[in-house]
Amino acid sequence: MKKEFAVIGLGRFGGSICLELSREGMDVLAIDINEDKVEEFKDIASHAVIADTTDERVLKELGIRNVDHVIVAIGDNIQSSILTTLMLKELGIRKITVKAQNEHHEKILKKIGADFVVHPERDMGRRIAHNIMSSNVLDYLELSDDHSVVEVKAGERMAGKTLIDLDIRAKYGCNVVAIKKGKEVNVSPMATEIIERGDILIVIGADIDISRFEKQLVIDDDED
Ligand code: ATP
Repeated sequence: MKKEFAVIGLGRFGGSICLELSREGMDVLAIDINEDKVEEFKDIASHAVIADTTDERVLKELGIRNVDHVIVAIGDNIQSSILTTLMLKELGIRKITVKAQNEHHEKILKKIGADFVVHPERDMGRRIAHNIMSSNVLDYLELSDDHSVVEVKAGERMAGKTLIDLDIRAKYGCNVVAIKKGKEVNVSPMATEIIERGDILIVIGADIDISRFEKQLVIDDDED
């Protein structure tokens, strides 16, 4: 099933989305106001056009109505990002993802009906911070303002113990939703399952609880 996408704004973020979607064989309409950017993507995307997307007439002419999902990756110019999102919404685009520069920008985007708002720099910063605190924290995904999912590698403190021994739910208020052992993923781990060093646990919980869990059980082995 080949889906149609449009990426507006071909900076590092939009450009990388455009490149990856194209590599995966998707139909991508790449749009930027800057001629050089469009030139860069003319052999990568299915179509690459120079356009100012704050102009409703231009958007209509591009036939953007037929696109399943539009990604607005105009970062610096918040006004253009908001206006573009508003136009897309009025044209009835079903899925709109927008890159936000800050919390105020995000609030406005949500109010005008953006379906997904992303903060790549902030989110990547958070992930890297958690990984810097402990190299056993492999990934960190925000679910809401105060809940996250974290992927951690079992070290010395968890090795040889079961979920009952560790009592993660009662002690930290977090849930272990899956355990990866090599290539095998167990999505309904038993409380009696023994965790081995190097196993990967997917844990869900409130940020403050995850933080306690990370500090007490996921700390790097060489810091023990
Ligand atoms: P990144 O952080 O992703 O690298 P950037 O700093 O390179 O972004 P931004 O200024 O955030 O660039 O904008 C991304 C792109 O959006 C730029 O290539 C810019 O030309 C394009 N752009 C800005 N305004 C419009 C507009 N009204 N219509 C179409 N494209 C636009």
